[in-house]
Amino acid sequence: MRVVMKFGGTSVGDGERIARVADLIAEAVGRDDQVVAVVSAMSGVTDALVRAARTAAEGDGTTFRRVKTDLLVRHLVAVDQAVGNGADLRDEITEALENFEQLCHSIYILGECTPRALDMVSSLGERFTSRILAATLNHRGIQAEAIDATEIIITDDNFGAANPIMELTCPRTRERLEPLLEAGSVPVVTGFIGATQEGVTTTLGRGGSDYTAALVGRCLEADEVWIWTDVDGVMTADPRIVPDARTLPEISYAEAAELSYFGAKVLHPKTIRPAIERGIPLRIKNTFNPDGPDTLITQEATQDRRPVKAVTAIRNLSLITVAGRGMLGVPGVAAKVFSAVAREGISVLMISQSSSEQSICFVVEEQSSARAVAALERAFERELARKDIDRIWADDHVVIIAVVGATIRTTPGIAAKVFGALGRNGVNVISIAQGSSEHNLSLVVADEDAEAAVRLIHAEFELGKEPS
Ligand code: ADP
Ligand code: ASP
Ligand code: MG
Repeated sequence: MRVVMKFGGTSVGDGERIARVADLIAEAVGRDDQVVAVVSAMSGVTDALVRAARTAAEGDGTTFRRVKTDLLVRHLVAVDQAVGNGADLRDEITEALENFEQLCHSIYILGECTPRALDMVSSLGERFTSRILAATLNHRGIQAEAIDATEIIITDDNFGAANPIMELTCPRTRERLEPLLEAGSVPVVTGFIGATQEGVTTTLGRGGSDYTAALVGRCLEADEVWIWTDVDGVMTADPRIVPDARTLPEISYAEAAELSYFGAKVLHPKTIRPAIERGIPLRIKNTFNPDGPDTLITQEATQDRRPVKAVTAIRNLSLITVAGRGMLGVPGVAAKVFSAVAREGISVLMISQSSSEQSICFVVEEQSSARAVAALERAFERELARKDIDRIWADDHVVIIAVVGATIRTTPGIAAKVFGALGRNGVNVISIAQGSSEHNLSLVVADEDAEAAVRLIHAEFELGKEPS
């Protein structure tokens, strides 16, 4: 079997954990599987790198130096723990962090960090873990080679959220990795990063290592892609919020897409598409409990036929409302609202319109909320002056709660149960949208109500219980 195995940040969080990952790979190699490993940076490292660059741009000349020292210690300790005698690797890491410090110093002097420079900086964590894991495997007598995804994942230059160009990525990936696999070697590829055709480093978006694994899996026509993380697969809710959340043994691509889009961080939303294109099953497994329950994601998931499978939350959002009596029956208001927002490059996560047409509300990320309101005020300057539109405003600190399941739309009574449970417990629902897709019912609540709402809905549908 040919399998791509991605290991997330906590799974490679220190030297001991990297050694454990090497055990899991050794086991697969022992079964005669062809394995490609894809690794994230150690947990917290990408955050630290981004913080270093941002603070440097803001004129802070010390944070980046402290980050450099912390990262140096953390990675050298990991090399010690996992590899033992890794003199060359230590030198390589030390040198790369010297360069990082210089780059941050330039950012500090310039007082500006371009998206391109930020990608260069934030790609460093994955480069380290791929080398450490490859060295760990070599140390145990398993052939392995660290591969920078800049060699194989070719993207556009949309820094920070670059889009892979598949016509270039697939041939490159095959040319570079197939010979290694044929020779029984394990390529250890950096997740999260890529490069433009000119070779400039890009990143695929935060949490993007899952996406890298799916891209590599698709290009190599892998039999399966396994996402190794720190929980027992995709669960009925985030186990950090709902302690009795249960693993979903099987879900469909459509359900997984919906869950990840609406905040189930366990899987990056872009991961599903490359898997669907080649019908590659995705398996989500726990590095810390490898024999425990896991989730298989395929086209058709049949086991659990209950309409509601899981409940998720996306935080740090704003609800923007455009309201006014003069909007009644006037054609084109919605088009004008959304084109104004689109021109700003702001994406809309959920829309709801009152049937009386007196208001249109939609949800955006909180960081875009002021820009969205300003763009709308410009677009509707005349309507505001004429009082056709009374007010445009943002409610910040809101959360979308999504109730997800393949047959939600066709099962009567789901909304009644959801609102009943929330209403009885005093959780105010600010806005709702159903049928934004077939597979979910989403609602907006205030941030302080979000965790309670998730728990109440989870309990109402008894998601913690095995399906009968
Ligand atoms: P990794 O570093 O392995 O990529 P992430 O932190 O990105 O891991 O994703 C795993 C986390 O996703 C879990 O620790 C869990 O808190 C969170 N999570 C949110 N929703 C869910 C869900 N429905 N099922 C499982 N985990 C979830
Ligand atoms: N290291 C990257 C991040 O923290 C990518 C990933 O972990 O998937 O966003
Ligand atoms: Mg992740």
